[in-house]
Amino acid sequence: MESNNGKIPSIGFGTSTGIVNPEELERAIDTAIAVGYRHIDTAFIYGTEKVIGQTLQKWFKSGKLKREEIFITTKLPVMGTHQDRVDSFIQRSLSNLQLDYVDLYLVHFPVGAKSGSNNLPLRDEQGHLFLEPKTDHAAIWKKMEAQLDAGRARSIGLSNYNISQIQTVLKSARSAPSCLQVELHAYLQQRELVHFCHQNGITVVAFSPLGAPDHNKRMKGYFAQYEERPLPDILGNAVIGRIGEKHGKSAAQVALRFLVQLGVVPIPKSMNPGRIKENFDVFDFELDGEDMERMAELEMGERARVSDFLNIFKGVEHHPDYPFGKL
Ligand code: NDP
Repeated sequence: MESNNGKIPSIGFGTSTGIVNPEELERAIDTAIAVGYRHIDTAFIYGTEKVIGQTLQKWFKSGKLKREEIFITTKLPVMGTHQDRVDSFIQRSLSNLQLDYVDLYLVHFPVGAKSGSNNLPLRDEQGHLFLEPKTDHAAIWKKMEAQLDAGRARSIGLSNYNISQIQTVLKSARSAPSCLQVELHAYLQQRELVHFCHQNGITVVAFSPLGAPDHNKRMKGYFAQYEERPLPDILGNAVIGRIGEKHGKSAAQVALRFLVQLGVVPIPKSMNPGRIKENFDVFDFELDGEDMERMAELEMGERARVSDFLNIFKGVEHHPDYPFGKL
């Protein structure tokens, strides 16, 4: 798939696991690379960069994979959403990943917060973050562009930004964002945002493409006081199940294929070898016009959003740069 600054493989491997089990993650990455994934999504805040780096080194040394054959995305954490901290956070990510450059570096979230001592944001006793009062999008983007100049990132982009925030970045940009990574699945299809991005040559990457059934468990791994929330049951949806039966495919494969046909790049996460393979096996069938219509009807809008960050970044909804509709 083409983006502003080159090509991004049309499916990626997600690695947000909550509490990280290094052996399990290494096995999962080994399986993903062996079955053909050439795009790995990580973030400083997931705590998975080091294991990914060690696993990649093993593959490079074996001669079975070259650096230029794999697309690696990582992200500036919320503690780095400030123009003075972009340089140091990308350097820490590159060191964790044992790489000279990443293929894509994203601003993870449009609101900044102070750092705690544990590579996570600082919180008060109630779990509220210490937020930066305002985000200077133009100044941060300038520092993101500097990463292209320094050769630390081959392309740069945004995550969890809304249209108006992307427009602010576009106004001052010397290099436009090549990618926007947002939550996108059958129940939250983000049509206006996708249309806007495609009109502006911005590739859309879909996170939580299966509706993140492990979201509550994972968030507890990051933040013990996390309050559980109801989750969309995309994989148990009867319409998706019927379309799957018609094509001899699973609900997950239909949910992912739908996104591929919308022209977005899904990055499903799985730690299970069978499901890692299953999620990559979506290129030998096609949803017809009627299937696509039935899938489009599943749209539920904002109430299907899993990652509104309200439970994990407590108090963030009052910030002027909170990106989603005020709930
Ligand atoms: P996904 O929609 O990818 O769902 C992952 C869950 O689905 C896991 O519980 C997994 O379980 C299960 N699963 C995976 N494949 C199948 C299958 N074929 N059948 C049944 N169950 C399946 O959610 P994520 O939130 O993990 O999103 C994917 C990636 O997107 C993340 O890992 C991360 O890299 C990125 N992300 C980015 C965010 C951002 O703010 N930019 C926010 C959230 C995610 P199991 O492992 O047991 O297979």
